[in-house]
Amino acid sequence: MGEHRITEAELQQRIVQAAGLYGWRVAHFRPARTVQGWRTPMQGDVGVPDLILARDGRVLLAELKSDRGRPTPDQELWLEALGDHGRLWRPADWIKINSELLRRHR
Ligand SMILES: [Mg+2]
Repeated sequence: MGEHRITEAELQQRIVQAAGLYGWRVAHFRPARTVQGWRTPMQGDVGVPDLILARDGRVLLAELKSDRGRPTPDQELWLEALGDHGRLWRPADWIKINSELLRRHR
């Protein structure tokens, strides 16, 4: 994608935009600043993927990383548990991501 290296935040913007365009429901839980530092309000197992996407009964939970970023052990456990619903997406995967979001099943 040219000289500019796409960050995880930019990848997320692209995906959220494309998903909206293609009719997916999409959500991302942003961390909020608390007295203990940055925290995402939640209960349960940490490492939940960055994006939840749903359309026509299809659900994907996608962990986004920069091209060199590695998932944490907690993130790995989530992806393993999600099986076919889990995705690890990087900027280098953009064409594949876009076609998966575009594709209609059944
Ligand atoms: Mg991430």
